[in-house]
Amino acid sequence: MDLRSGIDGREFQPFYQPVVDFLTGELLGFECLARWAHPRRGLLGPDSFIPLAEDKGYIGALSDALLAGAVQDARAWPLHLRFSINVSPVQLQDLDLPLRLLRRLHEGGIEPHRLTVELTESRPVADMAMARRVVTTLREAGIKVVLDDFGSGSASLLSLHHLPFDGLKVDRSFLVALDSENGRTIIRTVVDLARSLGMSTVIEGIETPEQFAQLQGMGFDRAQGFLFGRPMPASAAARLIATRGLKRLGVR
Ligand code: C2E
Ligand code: MG
Ligand code: MG
Repeated sequence: MDLRSGIDGREFQPFYQPVVDFLTGELLGFECLARWAHPRRGLLGPDSFIPLAEDKGYIGALSDALLAGAVQDARAWPLHLRFSINVSPVQLQDLDLPLRLLRRLHEGGIEPHRLTVELTESRPVADMAMARRVVTTLREAGIKVVLDDFGSGSASLLSLHHLPFDGLKVDRSFLVALDSENGRTIIRTVVDLARSLGMSTVIEGIETPEQFAQLQGMGFDRAQGFLFGRPMPASAAARLIATRGLKRLGVR
């Protein structure tokens, strides 16, 4: 009941985490992450409501409300900045998803190529043929589609084989592998795998300059993590855009 009234009452809002160019540190855009400004419980993170929204059939409405907010916020940003939204496997079972996303973008005058859809493998994809149609339609419309949290779930390699992704987001759990030679070889091999399949790569969850230094030369295209910026409300994202100048994020 709280979820439903929260969606209707516009209690859900996107927070924005910076995504930077791995080599130059330049701000490329943001990932939109759901937050719930709950009237009694305060600001809630997605782990406390996304699974429930998926189970109760509210994930489509929630996602739509977030995108509507993100599109409004993105109108004020320079045109070269992109943004991504997270989409559950459940939503790939809906052939109307591409049209709904395009309609929202159109409302805000945002070009489809500025949007990336991140597929989170929170649960298995039920009908892979249907998911493939949805992903293909999104890409034909100019929206990019990437596989999120690669390496964190058992179904990742399977989806990679079945769905045509533009890119791969390598899960932050891989960062613990940086301490061993074998681990570093695995990370490099994942980047090579993505390259061979014609996909771009993002490494997420970089927290320290040491981690960032160890990742140099592995071939990642983009980077994300607390080192470059935490998820922040739209007002803070706007300030970041305005004050950043030529400063590289994450470099002090
Ligand atoms: P994700 O898509 O992999 O998003 C990255 C998560 O890692 C975010 O957590 C972010 O705050 C966190 N993170 C980023 N950098 C760092 C870092 O350097 N260190 C650490 N420890 N964590 C970092 P958040 O916001 O709690 O989101 C968790 C997950 O919830 C997301 O993982 C995504 O799978 C899901 N999610 C968020 N928003 C939505 C949404 O609108 N729809 C759906 N379906 N899922 C969403
Ligand atoms: Mg994501
Ligand atoms: Mg992720």
